[in-house]
Amino acid sequence: MRHPLVAGNWKMHGDRESVANLVTSLLKIDCEAEIAVFPPYIYVPLVAANIGDSGISVGAQNASEHDSGAFTGEVSCHMLRDFGCQYVIVGHSERRNIYSETDDQVAHKFAAVQSAGMTPILCVGETLEQRDQGKTLDVVAAQIEAVIERVGLGNICEAVIAYEPVWAIGTGKTASAAQAQEVHLALRQQLGDSGGKTRILYGGSVKAANAAELFMQPDIDGALVGGASLDANEFSEICKLA
Ligand code: PEP
Repeated sequence: MRHPLVAGNWKMHGDRESVANLVTSLLKIDCEAEIAVFPPYIYVPLVAANIGDSGISVGAQNASEHDSGAFTGEVSCHMLRDFGCQYVIVGHSERRNIYSETDDQVAHKFAAVQSAGMTPILCVGETLEQRDQGKTLDVVAAQIEAVIERVGLGNICEAVIAYEPVWAIGTGKTASAAQAQEVHLALRQQLGDSGGKTRILYGGSVKAANAAELFMQPDIDGALVGGASLDANEFSEICKLA
């Protein structure tokens, strides 16, 4: 039985006041799913302190693949662990596309997160052009394979995978439940025997209005939520549906 996870990626939004208010609202959510939130780095300590022992997890949106050294502007996995992070998102499409992160770099980051004792949330997904060309399953399989090559099947199965079609992120367009399930099933099959325990989240314009249908699919184990995670009521409804 896989415990559903709803992860809120706050991206580069908020200030001390809005972050504190959001956490206060999150603490009132009564749901079966695990909740994890991903504030901007600088607010991680504030969130970690305010969530206390509520059971809500905190994570980071990115991490350096390096342990320490002359990497100006970077934050290491050890530092994130030191401040209470349990999860780190790796390979988000905004990192791949805006900051040119390669599959190989994503695989290094994944390995660094696990070595530091945290759980990676590995994002994979195709562009609209790739979907239109019928390449969706090949694209996501290659993104997964790059990580398997570095860490092995056993380790990737301990992580969380997030299928996030690039064309659905922040656009208001969601993959249909059937489109998402097709990819989730293919990903699970690629993970082999141990893939049965791996949580595979869907991400891409998830809202309370479309979450229920997505969560009914047998291989969708929760959601990675961007925009809607900044709205406490909307996020709370999604968590209750998971
Ligand atoms: C995301 O950033 O991972 C995401 C899924 O964003 P949104 O929900 O806004 O599409």
